[in-house]
Amino acid sequence: MMTVVNSISNVMNLVRPSVLELTPYASAKDAFKDFKKDLIYMDANENPYQSEWNRYPDPDQLALKEALSQLNGISTDQLLLGNGSDEILDMIYRVFCEPKADNVIINTPTFGMYKVLAGMHQIACKEVLLTNDFQLDIQRIVESVDTQTKILFICSPNNPTGNLMNKEDVLSLVKSLNIIVVIDEAYIDFADSRSWLKEVVNYKNLIVTQTLSKAYGMAGLRLGICYADAAVISLLKKVKMPYNVNILTQKFALKNLENKSKFKKEISEIILNKGALKSELLQIAMVQKIYPSDANFLLVKVDDANKRYAQLLNNGIVVRNRNKEPMCENCLRITVGTAMENKKLIEVFKTLK
Ligand SMILES: *Cc1c(COP(=O)(O)O)cnc(C)c1O
Repeated sequence: MMTVVNSISNVMNLVRPSVLELTPYASAKDAFKDFKKDLIYMDANENPYQSEWNRYPDPDQLALKEALSQLNGISTDQLLLGNGSDEILDMIYRVFCEPKADNVIINTPTFGMYKVLAGMHQIACKEVLLTNDFQLDIQRIVESVDTQTKILFICSPNNPTGNLMNKEDVLSLVKSLNIIVVIDEAYIDFADSRSWLKEVVNYKNLIVTQTLSKAYGMAGLRLGICYADAAVISLLKKVKMPYNVNILTQKFALKNLENKSKFKKEISEIILNKGALKSELLQIAMVQKIYPSDANFLLVKVDDANKRYAQLLNNGIVVRNRNKEPMCENCLRITVGTAMENKKLIEVFKTLK
């Protein structure tokens, strides 16, 4: 019999049995989705005196989801929100990975949380090195999949290398692997490429994550966004803490999202400033190479990363030293700042001996 890799029944076979059986916590708020003002709430043991936060937040974050659904042209039942995308990644582990039995695949060097979460959940983490041009090593990835492999994490644009992954490679993996493929798009708004989010309709094993922390300037609010097939979203909801996105985050994220033109302007400014910063940095003798970046940071190879990192710090500038990461020897990851901050960085670099 032919297996349809992307069917929902196949995805269900990847779910932990205990999660399939789980009945999610029914919160006091679930029964009253429309929050009518004239109701008297005596159901949740809240303090009855009115303030902005005396009531529990909407566990389903519907107002915020509707705004995001409008913004991205996707239905609200294909959306899940988390306390940062880190929390969403955690929920994905909880749904699919059986501790001490299952494994996941990551593409090294990449975002550190995938491996940290694997450790937290006692899941083996198989690391496949990126190719020399920081692309996915399709063959090695395919060879690494075994019967206990549940998730492949693809970060695109990748942190810390900054590049997008080739579309054809991603698609061939999504289509051929009978595992969950998570595409982490934390930096997608800086990239000259479309999001994969619309594809969750076509591929049931595809989960796309995004965040308001980077391009949208709301790292302090903690809001991560997950796009997946409605059936996969329902699974994730089973392990979601009922009130994971607090009332202030829901309110301010909704308010800030209305300001679309502000983000567009900031994003294009950051992209312009990235180009300027790159050409300035390339004039500096200790800078050996700057990798192409589809994100809001540059991976910069210098003569001695440990030394330059410490010198920058002494001059009040904090960058990320990625020297210990495989394939990132003597590399610093530098976030694009304001024009003033970038200028200061260049000035400091020029004084270094
Ligand atoms: C910053 C970052 C995140 C974390 O985002 P939060 O929503 O702030 O938790 C996730 N993935 C990648 C690749 C990141 O760089």
